[in-house]
Amino acid sequence: MTEEPCQCSDCQRFYKEHDRLIREFPTFKQQQELNWASIQSFRTLCTKVTDDLQRKLSERESNEDNTPEDNHISNIEISEALEELESVNAYLYSIEALMERIFDTKISNKIESKFKEISKELAPDPLNMDRLILNRLFHQTPDSPDKKNIN
Ligand SMILES: [Zn+2]
Repeated sequence: MTEEPCQCSDCQRFYKEHDRLIREFPTFKQQQELNWASIQSFRTLCTKVTDDLQRKLSERESNEDNTPEDNHISNIEISEALEELESVNAYLYSIEALMERIFDTKISNKIESKFKEISKELAPDPLNMDRLILNRLFHQTPDSPDKKNIN
């Protein structure tokens, strides 16, 4: 028995995003750049938030009377988040080291064409006319007879 892919809203959003990234970045080089930028931006943001939380925590430790607006986040909450973010930052750092190796790989134009070709099969344009017509046919359902009885 083959298992159907999960159709919950989270998974559907993932499939959609997955296909979009293939469609909009169909070459090896574009995928390299996209993933590099994505790791970097994630790491930049996590690092900045970690730094900010660390500063906030040490400010509070050296200063007993906290300003009320500072108390939106409790010290425990900050400490817990810092612990989590520090491991995330370590993982991201490792991923970045691996991405650097992938980034070193160069692909010939002929192989790039293969990437483009396969990407079109994997993630066809959802706004493509043929596909829209096909989808409409698939989803066409006859008017439910119950409708007449509602009013
Ligand atoms: Zn799911």
